[in-house]
Amino acid sequence: MSSTDHITRQPVPTTDNGHADAAAAVPEAGKTITNHRVDTTFDKFHDRYSTRSLGLKTSPVRALFAVANRPEVVSLAGGMPNIADLPLDIVSESLTELVDTRGAVVMQYGSGQGEPEIREHICEVMAVEGLVADPDHVTVTCGSQQGLDLVTRIFCDPGDVIMAESPAYVGALNTFASYQTEVIHVDMDDSGLVPESLREKVTVARQDGRSVKFLYTVPNHSNPSGISQSTERRREILAVANELDLLVVEDNPYGLLNLDGDPLPTLKSMDPDNVVYLGSFSKTFAPGFRVGWVLSPPFVRDKLVLAQESATLCPPVFSQFAVSSYLAHWDWRAQVDSFINMYRTRRDTMLASLAETMPEGTTWSRPSGGFFVWLTMPGTIDSAAMLPRAVTKLVAYTPGTAFYADGRGQRNIRLSFCYPTPERIKIGVERLAGVVREELDI
Ligand code: PMP
Repeated sequence: MSSTDHITRQPVPTTDNGHADAAAAVPEAGKTITNHRVDTTFDKFHDRYSTRSLGLKTSPVRALFAVANRPEVVSLAGGMPNIADLPLDIVSESLTELVDTRGAVVMQYGSGQGEPEIREHICEVMAVEGLVADPDHVTVTCGSQQGLDLVTRIFCDPGDVIMAESPAYVGALNTFASYQTEVIHVDMDDSGLVPESLREKVTVARQDGRSVKFLYTVPNHSNPSGISQSTERRREILAVANELDLLVVEDNPYGLLNLDGDPLPTLKSMDPDNVVYLGSFSKTFAPGFRVGWVLSPPFVRDKLVLAQESATLCPPVFSQFAVSSYLAHWDWRAQVDSFINMYRTRRDTMLASLAETMPEGTTWSRPSGGFFVWLTMPGTIDSAAMLPRAVTKLVAYTPGTAFYADGRGQRNIRLSFCYPTPERIKIGVERLAGVVREELDI
């Protein structure tokens, strides 16, 4: 994860869920995957799209995701939460009751800020991580992905700079690109973002006359690196951000999925006035409801609500009540504990299989939570070029370049342990190790 100040625009995958468009053939082994090109000959509007829309790139690996979803392929590529354990009968009962008793309310338009009831529940959820919040400072969003979109929309103009982790969540990079901003990656080590790198890169960017709008970070079990910031590191990062008068955007979808211990303090709880916090029910309940939130100081909240109203009028009312009802009527914390046990077994299986099978010189992160392991391969192996060959050997992953805005990550791979069974993870890692060995000719 070395540093660079070089800023370029790269196509980034637009999805993180492993879904595919349609069946596609496996690209010929040995061929590099080039960006998916759309034939615009018959699009009579082809010359009218906004410059901003040109920043929305098709995933260079999307065609492979279609293949990766075939049952014979072990996909370690997507980031779909494993919700097989959810009590669907309870959810079904509470949805029926909602329609029967409050149908006229839950199917009506609602507040642009989000319904008061869910905002209260959101504060109870954040309190589990030690974050004390006022429901009036919460704006409900359509997943934390929309939180990212709204925050970028209210703060950024084209050409503005956003500081981000290296590597950084692909969905955030895509949102930032869609607002024509430029990302400068901050170095990371095993304890997370390196404060000195943040100071240096912001200072250089400002000396170059750039407007640096915020730092984007996932302090807990980051996607894709799996790294968590130590408490001391959190303090140092916040101190540097304050010294630089830099807003911090904390994205925390995996904060309650600690596989090895208690949650660490959120950045927001450590510096309430200078942090905008993004949360989500996608990993602790279910992503299909698309309920997330932003916790922000009141002036920022006002802007977010205006942006939300212009984007959607209001976040989905039915979903908000559905999530409220689940939280009120089900022991959701016990459910999160059950998710944690399931993910821990999968994480442990992946780490043990990597240790058993990967050739010497390969290194990987050891996440204490979340969904992902970040692998660095030896030599000059190009993970994007290797992917078609891996798929022919019936294993898929996400190449590291997806997680950088500046073209780095060629020797890296993101492996997810959230979805496949432990048995499939073991088989997938064995197959991957075989492919890496072939690349190395050993
Ligand atoms: N941030 C991060 C770091 C993520 O990994 C994801 C989902 N993959 C999101 C935000 C978006 O999640 P959602 O919109 O489902 O809340």
